Amino acid sequence: MSRLDSFIRRLSAQRDILNTVANEVRTLAGPVLELGLGNGRTFDHLRELFPDRRIIAFDRTVNAYGPSMPSADDLVLGEIRDTAKTFIGANASLAHADIGTGYEDKDAITLTWLPEIMAGVLAPGGLAVSGLPLDHPDLEALPLPSTVKDGRYFIYRRK
Ligand code: SAM
Repeated sequence: MSRLDSFIRRLSAQRDILNTVANEVRTLAGPVLELGLGNGRTFDHLRELFPDRRIIAFDRTVNAYGPSMPSADDLVLGEIRDTAKTFIGANASLAHADIGTGYEDKDAITLTWLPEIMAGVLAPGGLAVSGLPLDHPDLEALPLPSTVKDGRYFIYRRK
């Protein structure tokens, strides 16, 4: 598969999964956390899905397209490993992490701390959506929408 095909499938997976979990997320109180703002595309989609919900975005740098820029109060700059720690116990309804790199060695380092952060920021019943697999005793894997191939993206519910 070309990198273009792979990129298109990743973006489709993100959209399909966020659309799929949206109704369940709406039943929960608590903010939405976007780990890895990037260009702001998924942030913008989250804003469409949850117009009345606080959405807090994290990144080490500001690269979002202007209209997809969170307000200063909802943008947390720095290394997610450090910044998101302060949101442990935030009782988030949804945490989405799109911080995989495609490099096994780098992603392996991220996976030494990301599962603990994702489990820690969520409310019981809150949903984690991630481009990297999250192995954590408090996160129960959920099935993917039929349009998303196994292993491309991941959904979990906080126990
Ligand atoms: N989902 C975003 C979108 O739709 O535009 C794209 C996210 S992009 C693939 C990943 C972003 O996460 C990059 O902007 C990168 O700077 C940020 N990032 C990755 N790892 C990070 C870390 N450990 N700490 C802070 N930011 C990180």
